Amino acid sequence: MQDVWKTYPNGTVALQGIEVCIKSGEFVYVVGPSGSGKSTFIKLMYREETASKGQIMLTADGETFAISRIKEKQIPYVRRKIGVVFQDFKLLPRLTVYENVAFAMEVIETPVKDIKPRVMEVLELVRLKHKARSLPDQLSGGEQQRVAIARAIVNNPSIIIADEPTGNLDPETSMDIMQTLLDINRRGTTVVMATHNKEIVNTVRKRVIAIEAGRIIRDEQRGEYGYED
Ligand code: ADP
Ligand code: ADP
Repeated sequence: MQDVWKTYPNGTVALQGIEVCIKSGEFVYVVGPSGSGKSTFIKLMYREETASKGQIMLTADGETFAISRIKEKQIPYVRRKIGVVFQDFKLLPRLTVYENVAFAMEVIETPVKDIKPRVMEVLELVRLKHKARSLPDQLSGGEQQRVAIARAIVNNPSIIIADEPTGNLDPETSMDIMQTLLDINRRGTTVVMATHNKEIVNTVRKRVIAIEAGRIIRDEQRGEYGYED
């Protein structure tokens, strides 16, 4: 991101002059108080929101995209390079675990024969192959989040963006989700994770980008959480 600003239509200035470079294969935490701009930062990365000013570039699979400038009709193509995981999972409640993950491949028109082996492969990776036939509400919160992670990685994105992925989970389950994200990162996927989880940030040391009032106030390799909440 180069000099990225975001002003919402109601006049709220959420980000002010963000300058940051995240390299392929990194694992990055984004921390900061509520309302500081973490979600906005994350949403700009997957083009859920657009920057008011500045440049956001994404390089994936040898192609570079100006995220801030791409045309509407290119958005689905760029989104394939990015997997997103949310605090509230956002699974489709009437579809099974298998179908939730397969659906992400169907929408990008993956050849039918390729779908089943890949879905089973990622369900195995998140240790949920045995739950393929279950509906989301038959799973624990941690299992639901692992399904959401499987769905996010099934199309082999270059980057996983997670907005408070452990926000609704107990400490033990949160650490398990963190381990799953670390596994994915070890396989080469870049991970950017907004979090309030002090325990995880201070235990599993990675790069920490701290945002306050819309500005990056700290950016450290193997950083600390740095807040009391
Ligand atoms: P965080 O994720 O750190 O809690 P956000 O990025 O959600 O912060 O919010 C940053 C600021 O932008 C806050 O003041 C918030 O109220 C405001 N904001 C977020 N989304 C919107 C929106 N859609 N419209 C107007 N203001 C918004
Ligand atoms: P494996 O190939 O590892 O033996 P299975 O073919 O037994 O796996 O499938 C495992 C589970 O995946 C099944 O129990 C089923 O719930 C689910 N599954 C497989 N294919 C589909 C499909 N096309 N639609 C919905 N669920 C499926």
